[in-house]
Amino acid sequence: MRKIFVFMLAVLLALTMTAHAEAAKVMTSFYPMYIFAMNVFNGIDGIEIDCMTAPETGCLHDYQLLVGDMMKLSDAAALIVCGAGMESYLPDVQQQFPELAVIDCSQGIALLAEESDEEEAELNAHTWLDAQNAIKIVNTIAENAVLLFPEYAQQIASNALAYTDKLEALDMQLKDQLSPVQGKAIVTFHDAFPYFANAYGLQIAAVISEEHEETLSPAQLSQVIETVREAGNPPLFTEPQYSAAAAYAVSAETGAPIFTLDPLVSGDFEKDAYEAGMQRNAEALLEAFAQ
Ligand SMILES: [Zn+2]
Repeated sequence: MRKIFVFMLAVLLALTMTAHAEAAKVMTSFYPMYIFAMNVFNGIDGIEIDCMTAPETGCLHDYQLLVGDMMKLSDAAALIVCGAGMESYLPDVQQQFPELAVIDCSQGIALLAEESDEEEAELNAHTWLDAQNAIKIVNTIAENAVLLFPEYAQQIASNALAYTDKLEALDMQLKDQLSPVQGKAIVTFHDAFPYFANAYGLQIAAVISEEHEETLSPAQLSQVIETVREAGNPPLFTEPQYSAAAAYAVSAETGAPIFTLDPLVSGDFEKDAYEAGMQRNAEALLEAFAQ
């Protein structure tokens, strides 16, 4: 009896190991890319997707690679990145793993320059907050995935088609829903919303923290307060991933009301998380201008 049990255990273990070895691993750099990849690889058992950063992490600005990240990349078939400078560690990864296929999702997107006082203007990497860009990102992932995993080409293509149909519908809905707030000015916490503003007709009057820092110096704070006053005290939008302290300080001085916009860099690992998050943002904007 005991012998049979040991034998069965060995068979089970062997099966598990084989199954594990057969699944190709696709890494994503952070949350929004993971959600898009979840949809592209939906129902494909032979591909295992993973996210390098924890779901509660914010944007990757200044993110330093951890030993665990390198371990995760060591047996990955591909790495999906946002691109446009979001993953500043990318050159190190490519040097360490020259064989790793990198899917750069900024391909084919008209990139905006980041608002910055620094001399060399960096690109703004928050592309995914325009649903039309999300469609391009999904198509970039799918086109590259079909080449990397030709055995799943059909499933990948049909997944991408179904998901981009949903994103088209979402984009139309958002444009329709946000038409009453066309041209309205908003103040955001960090420079995450220019693509969103361009797509849905809003004006970003000021950004509270240009360097993505949670605390501002008194000089930076009075500069923001001045800009907000000049813009007529438009609503301020905090972000769930960052401290709202600076926004409250600006609000206390100007009387500008506070709401929340989510750059969708963290959240539940659900396939419809992007659509749900974009809808929540639209509702927050409508609420901000309803008074
Ligand atoms: Zn950001």
